[in-house]
Amino acid sequence: MNAPPPHLLDTPVFDNSFAALPDAFYTRLAPHPLRAPYVVAISDEVAGVLELPAALLGSPEFPEIFSGNRLLPGSDPLAAVYSGHQFGVWAGQLGDGRAHLLGGLRNAQGHWEIQLKGAGRTPYSRGADGRAVLRSSIREFLCSEAMAGLGIPTTRALCIVGAEQPVRREEIETAAVVTRVAPGFVRFGSFEHWASRNRPAELKLLADYVIDTFRPACRQAPNPYAELLSDVARRTGELMAHWMAVGFMHGVMNTDNMSILGLTLDYGPFGFMEAFDAGHICNHSDDQGRYTYRNQPHIAQWNLYRLADALLPLIGRPSEAQAAVDEHYGAAFEGKFEQLMRAKLGLRAGLADDEAFVGETFGLLQQHRPDFTQFFRALSTLPAEPDPGNAALADAPLRDLFVDRSACDAWLANWRARLAQTPWPEAERQAAMLAANPRYILRNWLAEVAIRQAKEHDFSEVQRLLTCLRRPYDEQPEYAAYAALPPDWANGLAVSCSS
Ligand code: AMP
Ligand code: MG
Repeated sequence: MNAPPPHLLDTPVFDNSFAALPDAFYTRLAPHPLRAPYVVAISDEVAGVLELPAALLGSPEFPEIFSGNRLLPGSDPLAAVYSGHQFGVWAGQLGDGRAHLLGGLRNAQGHWEIQLKGAGRTPYSRGADGRAVLRSSIREFLCSEAMAGLGIPTTRALCIVGAEQPVRREEIETAAVVTRVAPGFVRFGSFEHWASRNRPAELKLLADYVIDTFRPACRQAPNPYAELLSDVARRTGELMAHWMAVGFMHGVMNTDNMSILGLTLDYGPFGFMEAFDAGHICNHSDDQGRYTYRNQPHIAQWNLYRLADALLPLIGRPSEAQAAVDEHYGAAFEGKFEQLMRAKLGLRAGLADDEAFVGETFGLLQQHRPDFTQFFRALSTLPAEPDPGNAALADAPLRDLFVDRSACDAWLANWRARLAQTPWPEAERQAAMLAANPRYILRNWLAEVAIRQAKEHDFSEVQRLLTCLRRPYDEQPEYAAYAALPPDWANGLAVSCSS
């Protein structure tokens, strides 16, 4: 048996800034043990970010620690309280019903909070079991790391630990724990909690904590709290632009799932756009279609207004709170989205009519429904000036995604006319487009294959997907099958809030 790496297991490495807030913000409690936990997957990259000693990764202590069975010295586990709006309706108190913050860890790369998701009940579980199942844990783990690979702000995932303990969902499944890692897990709903209870002192403590820990520059502003809201609005705007440009749908954009740091947070019934449909609902439980692809930017703004309401007692004037959102959110979203779309389309510089051309592109996608990811990836390799005699052949990778080839040809002619307005050496443009248009995304069917095998205790597919999705812009011919459209068996796959 490997000797435990001394500096992590014997020395306090934690720096628990959130736990330094008063007791009202959380409940201190230990995770609930899981019998005979085993490692399902580890993200080496996150282990590197945390500077975990290599010997720990393969050691028997690892699943003990990241199931919550064994606490690291200095860890001060807690479940945080928050409230929120769910599906547009005030839901009152929620909180970490199945998350235990183990503590914060500071190293040369920054400050990282480490949280177990699925380690048992807390005072905020509201009658639920505090557990997470293997299926949803694999989805969260892979998607966190896929988003990071795509360059999109997100919480990270260190590992999945599984156990045989049965967990009842639509059917009996088994328990798993995902270890999430992020600078912080404070949510819009963390602020709504204190505002709704008319507790200005706690509201201020929380805002001061966020500013001092994460956004010290806000202190320099005449109104630091308005500046914090502006910062959140900007980051949320940029995050929405990333989601829309890559075709990511969160599925449950409730205010309790919105990160104050502008990170993608709480992966549940998410999805990536395949055959394009702006009205796509990725969450089977979202009957009204509140969280469709096309609604996401609007919903994020609605959520920011709820945060503005919550921060109002600190900001002072309603007009100033509203302005913090209005002046920063839209501009950040549009600016970033324009930049990302220009990169996706291979436009070297912006022109006044680009918004119209981007609109025309989405119109084409909506009408003809090619696979969103394949469309932009195939486009990346097309020549700007094809041989007139040979155009159909040169354009085949894109044309083949369309039943109506002439619609594709008409759009391509406009694309080429637009490219000609800002010429760019072909090789450079293609390289830039390939770096902006991923080949690999976490398609539901890919996750499903990995989940089915993992249920049979074969975790190799989770590891392969992780390896592939970490470099989504690279060609990786050995993973070509992962770039494919969903096979027939996957057409009926549905994901719901059940996790
Ligand atoms: P979600 O929208 O899935 O992020 O979760 C909404 C709320 O329900 C949060 O407070 C979660 O902690 C809580 N929750 C979800 N699933 C469970 C569960 N299995 N056990 C306890 N709490 C849960
Ligand atoms: Mg949540």
